[in-house]
Amino acid sequence: MAARITDRPFFIMEEQDSSSKKGKVYLVGAGPGDPGLITMRGRYLLEKAEVVVYDHLASRRLLKYVPADAQLVYAGKRGGVKHIRTQEEINQMLVDFALEGKVVVRLKGGDPFIFGRGGEEVETLANNNVPFEVVPGVTSATAAATYAGIPITHRGYTASVAFLTGHEDPTKESSNIDWAKIATGIGTIVVYMGIKNLPSIVRNLIDHGRSPDTPVAVVRWASTPEQKSVVGTLETIAGIVTDSGIKPPALIVIGEVVNLRDTIDWFEKRELFGKRIIVTRTRDQASELVAGLEENGASCFECATINIEPVDDYGILDEALERIDEYHWVLFTSLNGVKYFFKRLYDKGLDARDLKGPDIGAVGKSTADLLLAYGVNADLIPPVFTGEGLAESLLDQGVEGRNVLIPRAAVGREFLPETLRGAGAQVTIAPIYRNVPPGGRRDELRAELESDEIDMVTFTSSSTVRNFLTMVDAADQEELERLLAGVRIAAIGPITAKTVTDSGLKVDVQPEQYTIEAMIMEIIEFYRSQSG
Ligand code: SAH
Repeated sequence: MAARITDRPFFIMEEQDSSSKKGKVYLVGAGPGDPGLITMRGRYLLEKAEVVVYDHLASRRLLKYVPADAQLVYAGKRGGVKHIRTQEEINQMLVDFALEGKVVVRLKGGDPFIFGRGGEEVETLANNNVPFEVVPGVTSATAAATYAGIPITHRGYTASVAFLTGHEDPTKESSNIDWAKIATGIGTIVVYMGIKNLPSIVRNLIDHGRSPDTPVAVVRWASTPEQKSVVGTLETIAGIVTDSGIKPPALIVIGEVVNLRDTIDWFEKRELFGKRIIVTRTRDQASELVAGLEENGASCFECATINIEPVDDYGILDEALERIDEYHWVLFTSLNGVKYFFKRLYDKGLDARDLKGPDIGAVGKSTADLLLAYGVNADLIPPVFTGEGLAESLLDQGVEGRNVLIPRAAVGREFLPETLRGAGAQVTIAPIYRNVPPGGRRDELRAELESDEIDMVTFTSSSTVRNFLTMVDAADQEELERLLAGVRIAAIGPITAKTVTDSGLKVDVQPEQYTIEAMIMEIIEFYRSQSG
């Protein structure tokens, strides 16, 4: 059948045989920087993409939504810096991918049609009869103002706003911008790409009648943890920007509304704003800690120091499950213990109902919460969330002659089983998962530490400490101390903290309760006390 360009949605086209499959290009606005600011439509399309052509300004973190087998192409366009690809090359590339039958997402920073040359890309597609769709995005002008605490319009201050490009030199003879009209005819003026020409932009506005006292804010990397903003007036802002070393990408917001920042600033006021924190964790652990730290303004480098893998042989657990009613206790000492236990239980066609015989103990609240998610209400949670705490609570109840099953890591702490055995219990340890240090990201981690920008490292278990040190791979104690100079250390509990101090390092933050929530609160409290 002859190839025919159709406008049908790609998910129907996918059903057809590949010879007749026609591509389509989706121009998607990525939003200003925070990956959470993409539209739902944009994210949906990323999940369906076969090719993603993305810009410097589009958040890399959005690429996690793209299927693993999709092709990623960096368009590498960056204002002021040498272009890796010309606009014409990008336009042609989009046409070519579409003609190959691909579902292409062209991911652009902010909104594709606001100073993004999206218009030109779509014109080329239209001229080549390539089907396309455009998905708007949150443009950086509104994001920069909002995240700097500036309402871009306000009934009491202005009824108009203009978006300008500062890319063209306002002193050139034939400007496309009528500066005379803009200077006095518009309330709020937002200038994209204006950092290089800032001195002539402000001079021009003043010369055309705008008051030199008009407040101005300049916001760099708006909506991201790297956001930086400075405030001045038309008269002073160029000097302030030079002194503070602000470079593109940044936006210039001009107008009386800037004064509202004093009252409304919210984003940069969050307690951990500007803090860069390394979060060590197992690869498949829920990122509750990262989410909590970021919610409070920190920027996190997630460093997986442990991979959790299933064991090869579930013999001991299988046998225990066959006579589960003979056990008095099943004890869970980790989240992974719960996860892998239930996976095996389900694989064998069993479920929570088969656990009605034994009492269930959990080492702490998170473990108990996870158990509940699997339909099991823990009978025992010790007041202190450690193996010691659990042992003590059990000893209080008396364990002599009791059968105890502990499903856990192949290599784990022996304190709990040994204490229970010492008190006369029959303990079965069922190894159900293994901790394996991962290979990847070592270079990235070293680079982060060398950059001197890391404020803190968090550890949530002794293995994360040990594996982190293995990954850092310092030649000796001296190099380790140099790499970690100025880096604060947070440890979730006393055992983890001891592993840290045993390595010759100092613990700065340690919550009283061994939970992620308490750890986040304690980190906030630590920085509060530092600044106060
Ligand atoms: N289409 C984009 C703008 C592309 S032009 C949008 O709608 O936002 C590139 C300019 O946008 C940069 O020079 C800078 O002025 C501005 N910009 C983009 N992202 C930004 C951000 N996160 N913070 C500040 N300015 C940003």
